[in-house]
Parts: sequence; structure tokens; C-alpha cells
Amino acid sequence: MGNHGGWILFGVCLLVLFAVAMRDDPVRICTRCHAVNKDPKTGMHGSGWVTFWLLCIGILPGLVYMAWRRSTRTPICQSCGQSTLIPIDSPAGVEISRKTTSERLPH
Ligand SMILES: [Zn+2]
Repeated sequence: MGNHGGWILFGVCLLVLFAVAMRDDPVRICTRCHAVNKDPKTGMHGSGWVTFWLLCIGILPGLVYMAWRRSTRTPICQSCGQSTLIPIDSPAGVEISRKTTSERLPH
């Protein structure tokens, strides 16, 4: 007993934050021009230097900052420049990609 529960919780939080910060971006589809964006440009808040300094101070503040930056950024369509991108595996994204694929098929 004792403090073990606290340390396990701390470890789990750290792992979750790490997973959020390191996960790959989903492929996104534009609801406006239907372009598929595999690696869209993003308007990210904050700066890489702040992340670096926070990581120097401690892993936890650095990871929290990284996770915050990644979660608040807005992907921008490479084709039309609008921030109208949604994940392609979301229900609306699947619908759009199905429509655009069937439009391209010969009837
Ligand atoms: Zn677009």
C-alpha cells in the first residue's frame, strides 16, 4: 500500500500524454474541395523552442505543452487553403470519399 497507487496513476498519465503527442496524424479530406490531404499544413500554436525548454525543465511540462500544441492546431487544405478538413475515417469523411470515388468511376 502507501504511495504506489499515485505512482501508477502518474505513469499512466505520462503514457497517455506521450501517446497523444506522438500519434500519427489521420489522413484528412476537405469538405469544400474534396481533396485528400495526407500531410496537411497546420497553423500550430506556440513554438518549438518553448517545447524544447519545457522538456529541459522536465519531461511532464514538455509533454503537456506538446500535447496542447497538437490538439489545438488547425489543419489547412493543401488544395484550397481552407481549414475545412475532417478525418477521412470519420462518418462524414467516409461519405465524401465514397462520393468522390464513385464520381471518378465510368458509368
Ligand atoms: Zn480543400
